[in-house]
Amino acid sequence: MNFIDLNAQYQILKDDISKRINRVLDSGAYIMGSEIKELESQLAQYAGTKYCVSCSNGTDALLIPLMAWNIGRGDAVFTSPFTFIATAEVIQLLGATPVFVDIDKDTYNIDFEMLEKAIQNVLKEGKLNPKAIIPVDLFGICADYDKINTIAKKYNLLVLEDAAQSFGATYNGNKSCSFGDCAATSFYPAKPLGCYGDGGAIFTNNDELYEKLISIRVHGQGDDKYNNVRIGINGRLDTIQAAILLSKLSIFDKEIAERNRVAKRYTNNLKNILKTPIIFENYSSVWAQYSVLAKSNEERTKIMDLLKEQQIPTVIYYPKPLHLQTAFENLNYNFGDFPISEDISSRIFSLPMHPYLCDSEIDKISNVIFEILN
Ligand SMILES: *Cc1c(COP(=O)(O)O)cnc(C)c1O
Repeated sequence: MNFIDLNAQYQILKDDISKRINRVLDSGAYIMGSEIKELESQLAQYAGTKYCVSCSNGTDALLIPLMAWNIGRGDAVFTSPFTFIATAEVIQLLGATPVFVDIDKDTYNIDFEMLEKAIQNVLKEGKLNPKAIIPVDLFGICADYDKINTIAKKYNLLVLEDAAQSFGATYNGNKSCSFGDCAATSFYPAKPLGCYGDGGAIFTNNDELYEKLISIRVHGQGDDKYNNVRIGINGRLDTIQAAILLSKLSIFDKEIAERNRVAKRYTNNLKNILKTPIIFENYSSVWAQYSVLAKSNEERTKIMDLLKEQQIPTVIYYPKPLHLQTAFENLNYNFGDFPISEDISSRIFSLPMHPYLCDSEIDKISNVIFEILN
């Protein structure tokens, strides 16, 4: 059994993907070929934003907007410690300071009440300038943007949505990547919409920001390639990856429906023996992960070990919250600072999740867990 099954999807799209890749190879436009604009236009339409800027990966999709906003030394950027390293890495890379805020115990996304307290603390201390918030849409579920955007407005902060796991999800009837001043997603192969290498995209409705994003994506170029008006990066998406994404986008909604079928069946099977994901009203998930909570760290180990014996793979997202990572030891956080993130990290694990998981496989996985726990 596979944790995700990219091959099943490839078999369905094989002919179309080959055709599209061959077209790129024949065109010779390996960098910024016509597929790039076509993809950006389709993605912006999908997310409901004015602009989409494709880029090299999800990490650069977070980095480029922060660069466009001139975020750097002395600035505080608020984010979750229960996420992939990239979310906070880009903040520190620019010399700014990640300020972690604990998560909600049910959604695993940033807790808006603690967010406001953290902003007030930074203001009171007077050492850092609060500049931005990076909420993470963890496991495919959007953060609570009504609440977050209200707080952002009150304190005059920018919002960068980390939608690396949530492209295709909805909140209050709007699509992921449409909620902040800017949003970043990833097309890493294992994400709900993935390419066959690294890729990412940035979304915004802001004209001025858009101009800066496309400049920073290509070495801070001005109106000419050899006229550089700011420091940027080499952050383009490959044309071949755009061609692959155009093919995958054609079946994406169908795949989201299948992911929801899988999630629903897992939840029905498991809700009485494990804490299954909670999707509040007005939200729909793209199920980047189907993550469940064991009652204890020992119980998690036992379940994962016995599933492994049955050739059922599981993964822990995430075993160590970012405030406890060596990479951030300069921030001087301690164990106990974010008790919810720490507790969830010690008990959470993710089950196989992909659109091609069949009902009998879901039932088999569920039955093994059921037997372990009874
Ligand atoms: C995957 C991921 C990223 C980074 O995306 P890459 O394309 O791997 O650079 C950032 N944030 C979160 C929450 C992610 O899951």
